[in-house]
Amino acid sequence: MTSSSTTYDARALLWKPSDSLRDANRRKIIRAVMVEPGTQVQIARLTELSQATVSGLVNELQQENILRVDNSEGARGNKLRLGGVRGVAVGVEVNHNGLTVAARRVDTSSIEYETADFGAEQGGNVWVRESARLIREVAGATGLDADHIVSIGLGIPAAIDPRTSRVTQVASSLDWDLTGDPATRFKDHFPNVPIIVDNEANLAAYGEYLYGAGRGTETMMFVKASTGLGAGMIVGGLIYRGRHGLASEIGHLTMDPLGTVCRCGNRGCLETIVGGARLVDQVRQAYAGYRMDLPTGLEGMIERAKAGDQVCRRVLQDASRNIGIALARVGNIMNPEMMVLGGELGRASDLLVEPAVQEMRLYSLRGMFDHTQPTKLVGSELGLLAGARGALAFALKADRTVDA
Ligand SMILES: [Zn+2]
Repeated sequence: MTSSSTTYDARALLWKPSDSLRDANRRKIIRAVMVEPGTQVQIARLTELSQATVSGLVNELQQENILRVDNSEGARGNKLRLGGVRGVAVGVEVNHNGLTVAARRVDTSSIEYETADFGAEQGGNVWVRESARLIREVAGATGLDADHIVSIGLGIPAAIDPRTSRVTQVASSLDWDLTGDPATRFKDHFPNVPIIVDNEANLAAYGEYLYGAGRGTETMMFVKASTGLGAGMIVGGLIYRGRHGLASEIGHLTMDPLGTVCRCGNRGCLETIVGGARLVDQVRQAYAGYRMDLPTGLEGMIERAKAGDQVCRRVLQDASRNIGIALARVGNIMNPEMMVLGGELGRASDLLVEPAVQEMRLYSLRGMFDHTQPTKLVGSELGLLAGARGALAFALKADRTVDA
């Protein structure tokens, strides 16, 4: 008989190699509850197991104090939560000029996070070392240490081949070694810990789908508009990657075949029109010679737009119209239930959603909006934590056993 005070090391529960289907199904259920406490019906949906299988295994896991029922929300709730299980899940988002690391004890919902100004631009050695340092720090802030890390999700600004986890393509502005799985660079820092890599915008989409504006949707697209312009697509709860991991590269849709050359080597991409540096340049040009306190980045520009600066507002709203035209094109192919505007521009969604929707309506097939449940465009709810939170959940859900 297991006592209700029995506690387990999450690594022992999740990593143990076993060929048994029953063990694999138990792990799936435990992982699903770690991603998010839920009812048996929700767990069955997330794991794609039958209700009967979930019900039988949940009973067993409750008796072992691995799961417990939480009645605190009344009979309607009856959510399954973790019982006595100790472990930390980690998610990392690597951007061009910064890092965000999030960590969460698997038995709670409270997130610890930290950011740093080191990013992909500084080269592989720097961002790997800085990520490893932050991972230890943020894991420690949860009350458990790095020896309790069960998985690390790693979102990087590159396209990843979904079959091999190797980099398919990276912006030519980044001087990266393209050989091998980027996760192996962390092996010296965290031996044995499963590290799951994906494109950072894909993982931000996953975060927003699980915990943010996209909750409960079937198909959604998340647009990350910052220095560059990335996106992620969720179809039926899964990240849609395409054969080479290059799906949803909305920033490189051609908007003007005679336009400016893009860092991808093509011409007239959306990113050359609405990328962060391009927007800031426009404001600096408009005020050149008239004002000295010119914004140097998107953040400052958004603050000024919110304070009523008409130049900053106009530049951002025009950018938003161009994003709306691109979203209409994507919408005619994907027909999503929801599109979410995130990244730095997501912070100004109160200014930007409306102009984008006007353009989407002009260029989309009518049925998408003339419907009782039209396609929605909304601002991100998780803000700049979307990527790290999505990475955390994605790695936690991926079933990887570890050979001792
Ligand atoms: Zn491009």
